[in-house]
Amino acid sequence: MKPTYDFHTHTHYLKCANQTMTVPAIMEECQRVGVTCLGITDHLNTLDKLPLHELIRRDLEQAQPAMPVYFGVELNFLGCDGEFAFNAEVKERLGFQFAIGGIHCTYLKEYDLRKLVEIQHRHHLKTCQDPLIDVLVHPYWFGKYEFDQKKWPWFDSVRVVPESFTRELGQVARETGTAIEINAQANLVCGANPSGYLDEYADYLAILAEEGCMFSPGSDAHDKSHLAAIRSVWDMFERLKLGPERIWRPQGKPFVGGG
Ligand SMILES: [Zn+2]
Ligand SMILES: [Zn+2]
Repeated sequence: MKPTYDFHTHTHYLKCANQTMTVPAIMEECQRVGVTCLGITDHLNTLDKLPLHELIRRDLEQAQPAMPVYFGVELNFLGCDGEFAFNAEVKERLGFQFAIGGIHCTYLKEYDLRKLVEIQHRHHLKTCQDPLIDVLVHPYWFGKYEFDQKKWPWFDSVRVVPESFTRELGQVARETGTAIEINAQANLVCGANPSGYLDEYADYLAILAEEGCMFSPGSDAHDKSHLAAIRSVWDMFERLKLGPERIWRPQGKPFVGGG
């Protein structure tokens, strides 16, 4: 069976996604889109947000989805070269079944493209080396607002990433068993990117794939209408000729829904 999964979705509770992203609405729309295994992964940027994840958990406990659904979390660095707001105790206490994570800003004050790529790469490797992280999220996604605010030229091509970095990331991901995310909203269908971006990103992913790592599909939906964009990731799996054995999914029994 084609692995039509989505392991990166947000809810209204953390306020990054909007009010359309209730847990029941996400499940209903994913069912319509054809998702056969789902992960809910809202942000945990600081530990004081944990009570909001308990609300997501409660909604999941009350749900009766058609597809298996896993309870996950998305992590961010607490500053440049910092840690994630996460540890084994938090994972256990909340019952998070998997964690996805990565870098979410440039950590630069002055525009310097070479340094910008180096910082991303360093954090990508650090993410893979963290044993509590299952999936490295959206490599070379940037917040458009950060670039606009700083009046920097937009990061509009992954061609500037040295191939040696890409191969090293693919190797480290394979060795550590970390899946690399193919993210719809952040990378494949991002409206801020020029028309050639997608093909260049496909070339980038193809180099990673040659190094033998696993890949995880994610819509990164923050609005119910974004969930259907996961199909762009499934199309990318086909384009890269990634078989089901290269597509990651969480281990063990789902939180709710079929097996
Ligand atoms: Zn993210
Ligand atoms: Zn996200």
